[in-house]
Amino acid sequence: MGTLLKIHTKLELWSPIIHGFSEKWSNLRVSKGNQHFIRKSSKKWCKTGFVSASRSTLLELVPETKKENLEFELPLYETSKNMVVDLVVVGGGPAGLAVAQQVSEAGLSVCSIDPSPRLIWPNNYGVWVDEFEAMDLLDCLDTTWSGAVVYIDEGLKKNLDRPYGRVNRKLLKSKMMQKCITNGVKFHQAKVTKVIHEESQSVIICNDGVRIQASVVLDATGFARCLVEYDKPYNPGYQVAYGIVAEVEGHPFDVDKMLFMDWRDSHLDDNKELKEKNRKIPTFLYAMPFSSNRIFLEETSLVARPGVAMEDIQQRMEARLRHLGIKVKSIEEDERCVIPMGGPLPVIPQRVVGIGGTAGMVHPSTGYMVARTLAAAPIVASAIVQYLGSGSPSELSAGVWKDLWPIERRRQREFFCFGMDILLKLDLPGTRKFFDAFFDLEPRYWHGFLSSRLYLPELIFFGLSLFGHASNSSRLEIMTKGTLPLINMVNNLVKDKE
Ligand SMILES: Cc1cc2nc3c(=O)[nH]c(=O)nc-3n(C[C@H](O)[C@H](O)[C@H](O)COP(=O)(O)OP(=O)(O)OC[C@H]3O[C@@H](n4cnc5c(N)ncnc54)[C@H](O)[C@@H]3O)c2cc1C
Repeated sequence: MGTLLKIHTKLELWSPIIHGFSEKWSNLRVSKGNQHFIRKSSKKWCKTGFVSASRSTLLELVPETKKENLEFELPLYETSKNMVVDLVVVGGGPAGLAVAQQVSEAGLSVCSIDPSPRLIWPNNYGVWVDEFEAMDLLDCLDTTWSGAVVYIDEGLKKNLDRPYGRVNRKLLKSKMMQKCITNGVKFHQAKVTKVIHEESQSVIICNDGVRIQASVVLDATGFARCLVEYDKPYNPGYQVAYGIVAEVEGHPFDVDKMLFMDWRDSHLDDNKELKEKNRKIPTFLYAMPFSSNRIFLEETSLVARPGVAMEDIQQRMEARLRHLGIKVKSIEEDERCVIPMGGPLPVIPQRVVGIGGTAGMVHPSTGYMVARTLAAAPIVASAIVQYLGSGSPSELSAGVWKDLWPIERRRQREFFCFGMDILLKLDLPGTRKFFDAFFDLEPRYWHGFLSSRLYLPELIFFGLSLFGHASNSSRLEIMTKGTLPLINMVNNLVKDKE
């Protein structure tokens, strides 16, 4: 939730970036029974700002965001004792808790700071089942689907033979917190505002005035990027999505398959303006059907710069649901997703170490990150354990950053940013051709690309293979739209040395 709070505070900065987010906050809430609903008004609250939504009937059903806490008695950091800890982890999202758990397992003292440490994470995380299987986390998926489907257009449907799952975020967080507690992690409920580095340790300053000293500081504050520094202009693309977990009268999807992407646009046939907007910057439907009448539906702009306005996304989603004959009876929860993608990496190395959203780990072409971050947590944790005490704090952080972002990972990211730059230039017909060719590739290529398992030499084969599978018109488009991004990528690869 803190991320969202931070996103609110960052909105004023983002508002010129994301279309339509510049309006002032002025929502009203009304109560109905013991549930709170957002009052129909010309301005709607969303986690990313205010949008006008007078035409929206769907949003009428959105309950006030539920804030569910885990029932844990948290061992607190005793502020009066002024204990110096080995590691302070700022941010209790998946990235921060995974490292806190693993560093404390090695016997080091850890303090985890988050404004809402017991709050269940707000996002609906989807992952490929094999990614969680590789980390022995299958028990943390609450629903799995035997495969996925992609609609390229009205006439072309692709079946993806790769199981997909939804993360049981309550269970995953509970497991991590339980292990942290068993390993002696102490918690402090606050927001970090600043870090001051001294010769042998750093001092974290919280918004409640508490100061905590630590040998190492890990910034795991997601897209809030609280402490990690950047020295290049921050110019990411944005994935913007609006999702609901809804009870519906029925839906047309197979409950054994998740809908990875639906690029059909016939739902916009009688709205020329929206259809044209969607042709220029397309959005797709992503859906996880839990049963015949309960489903997660998310209209998503894969990546755009500036990001697509949330209002546009909601309008497209409403039109799509109407067209598909999906009648929403009630909404359990909604999510407004704004994910910065690509852009520069933080300064490497720097004294504060990072992981997750704050450390540039979102996949620049897809917006996915959870599986990659959980897999990277042991690398960061063992680097901290290995380097602690064996050199100066700067040497330690240099070692941790190097292990998190070795040259092959930086090159891989550069290629993914190239992918994002191409996607940014594709309209709906171009996007359809791209994914038509992409999902025709050998599974090891598209699986590997989506799960960050391919490194530069394989990625070059992946690129050539994609080009080989593309239609002639698509090849021409990739060549015209991809040449500049390709030159940029090659330049960046040449400049980036070990
Ligand atoms: C709506 C949404 C849906 C997503 N869905 C998926 C998905 O399906 N699959 C996938 O792989 N990825 C997904 N992502 C992308 C990414 O995996 C998530 O954003 C993920 O939560 C990032 O994890 P994190 O631990 O880095 O940061 P976060 O989960 O954002 O956690 C950061 C924590 O830091 C705390 N914090 C922030 N500022 C401070 C501060 N100053 N002091 C102390 N604490 C602070 C916050 O309260 C929060 O608890 C999604 C992202 C969003 C926004």
